[in-house]
Amino acid sequence: MSENVECVVIGAGVVGLAVARALALRGLGPIVVEAERAIGTGTSSRNSEVIHAGIYYPRGSLKAVLCVEGRRRLYAYCADRGVEHRRCGKLIVATSEEQLPALRSIAEAARANGVDDLRWLEADAARSLEPELCCVAALESPSTGIVDSHGLMLALRGDLEAAGGMVALGAPVLHGRVSPGTIVLEIGGDAPMELHARRVVNCAGLNAQAVARTIDGVPPQSVPPIYYAKGNYFSLSGRAPFSRLVYPIPERAGLGVHLTLDLAGRARFGPDVEWIDSIDYTVDPRRADRFYAEIRRYWPRLPDGALQPAYAGIRPKLHAPNEPSRDFSIQGPKEHGIPGLVNLYGIESPGLTASLAIAERVADALGD
Ligand SMILES: Cc1cc2nc3c(=O)[nH]c(=O)nc-3n(C[C@H](O)[C@H](O)[C@H](O)COP(=O)(O)OP(=O)(O)OC[C@H]3O[C@@H](n4cnc5c(N)ncnc54)[C@H](O)[C@@H]3O)c2cc1C
Repeated sequence: MSENVECVVIGAGVVGLAVARALALRGLGPIVVEAERAIGTGTSSRNSEVIHAGIYYPRGSLKAVLCVEGRRRLYAYCADRGVEHRRCGKLIVATSEEQLPALRSIAEAARANGVDDLRWLEADAARSLEPELCCVAALESPSTGIVDSHGLMLALRGDLEAAGGMVALGAPVLHGRVSPGTIVLEIGGDAPMELHARRVVNCAGLNAQAVARTIDGVPPQSVPPIYYAKGNYFSLSGRAPFSRLVYPIPERAGLGVHLTLDLAGRARFGPDVEWIDSIDYTVDPRRADRFYAEIRRYWPRLPDGALQPAYAGIRPKLHAPNEPSRDFSIQGPKEHGIPGLVNLYGIESPGLTASLAIAERVADALGD
């Protein structure tokens, strides 16, 4: 079967759904094709569910700009659509005098990114907020929060369907080719078909590079390499004596083993950084030793035996372990020369927070 369509979005993670919603609201009736049999089974359900304020990213980067804009849009959207979320705030902690310069640099980076509500706390002030916390100083970020990522994706799906779009599950993109005026996608699964689309947005997450490479006509040199940085989580048995998120000073390639809370008040710790060669979500229980050591720097009373292996997510990094961090890559016709095609690469953290802002940017690029 072959069908002409206006617009296809590849991947029903939070980014694909947000992009499809934005395109649907502009009357472009997108079809979302998702390889799995449910929405949001990839990185979008394997993260910390934190609404980031936009503190850490280099000034002017897509991560910085889209995180700040995405956060504002996300809070408004959640309030409007009844998606469960909480503006619980977070503390970034320096646990030794040596870390104070790094904490000050974080405060400066935040200000440069337009995050102007951070508050510097001396140790006593931090402890008055979180009595179990051990630190020499902290930065409080009141606009950081948590969100029910599945509730968010369900709301996005509802909106896009109400505006004339649709989601096809069990519909993997196997191959594609560029022909004048259209991009032809071969879809596998139970109902194989060929879609001839004027516009295609590749939101395939960890598979975005592989999908781009299967589309004949996409210049191979435009597709960046991908590196997998797994992040393992451990959950805490029992309730955590914290009401805010607690983050250490960031490490290379990650934000450090932090404490996040879910909306039911349960705590989990992570993600750490483990560079891997192929997708594997198993959590090795032996990694707990490092977690205990790192968490006890800011929470010395973490009881022995309290951590249980939980889950893992994988960051689609655009840089190798020893290279500097790279920004999100949103490639349109200017970058690869194919009208109507947008490829999204390296949409790691803060992609959940930034999803609604990424969606507007993509829709602006495609909506002629
Ligand atoms: C450990 C970790 C922690 C994070 N924490 C946070 C956080 O706290 N806050 C935050 O803002 N961000 C966070 N992020 C980032 C955020 O989770 C991601 O940026 C976001 O979920 C990416 O969404 P996506 O839609 O691009 O990818 P995905 O959710 O992976 O969706 C891609 C979809 O494409 C589908 N697909 C793949 N290949 C094909 C194909 N050939 N045909 C059809 N479909 C295909 C997949 O099945 C999948 O459903 C974190 C990321 C990680 C890894």
